Amino acid sequence: MTGKKAVAVILGVLILAASFFGTARLGKDQILPAFCQTEIKNGEKQMKKVALTFDDGPDPEYTQELLDGLKARDVRATFFVLGKQAKQYPKLTEQIAKEGHLIGCHGYEHVNLKSLSMEEACRQMTRTADLICGITGSRPMFMRPPYGKSHEGMEEKVQMIEVLWDIDTMDWSLRDPDRVVQETLAKVEDGSIILMHDEFQESVDGALQLIDALKKQNYQFVTVDELILE
Ligand SMILES: [Zn+2]
Repeated sequence: MTGKKAVAVILGVLILAASFFGTARLGKDQILPAFCQTEIKNGEKQMKKVALTFDDGPDPEYTQELLDGLKARDVRATFFVLGKQAKQYPKLTEQIAKEGHLIGCHGYEHVNLKSLSMEEACRQMTRTADLICGITGSRPMFMRPPYGKSHEGMEEKVQMIEVLWDIDTMDWSLRDPDRVVQETLAKVEDGSIILMHDEFQESVDGALQLIDALKKQNYQFVTVDELILE
C-alpha cells in the first residue's frame, strides 16, 4: 500500500467512526444518514413480491414492445427462452439481459422432455445454456421445461434449478388482457410466480395492465432468483 493510500484508508475509517458516533447522539426526530435508516429498509422488505415470467421467446414481433413497457415501468422480469429463438434473435436476447431481466432456459425446441431420453432432454437445456452464455456472457442458472415436465434428477445433471409457477394466466388461450388481469388478481399472493408468454399482442397488453394493477396493490416485481434464493 502506498503512503497516500494508507492515509486515505485511515481517513475513511475516521470519517465512518465519526459519523457513527455522531448519529448516535441524534434525537429521534432528527434526520439520519441514509445508511442508518433501517426502518425504511425494513419497510421495503415488507412489500409483497411477485415474479413475472415469460416463456417461448424471444419473439421478433412482441418481445421488443414488452421490453419497452417493462422499462417504462421500471420492472424486471424473467424470460425462459427457447434456444432456437435465441439463436435466431441474438440481439433481442442480449437486450433482455442488458436491461436487467433474468434469462432462464426453456429448452432448445418446444418439446415435452418426457418424450425424450434423459440425455436428449439434458442436451435441450445445456445446448440452450451454452448459446445464451455465448450471447450474454452469463450462464443461466434456472430452467423451466416446456409443460412443466422434466426427468427426475435433471437439475443435478444440467446444474440448473427448475422453476415452475403457481399462477398460469392462460394468456395464450384467453387472448384477452382484461380477463388475464382479473383472473390473476383473484389468485395472486406474496411470492407468486406468474406464467405468461411474450409471443402474443394480448399477452404483452395483459402483462403491462397487470403490472399497473399489481403496483396499485403494493406489489414489487422481482426476478425468480430473488424469490428462490432468498
Ligand atoms: Zn412454453
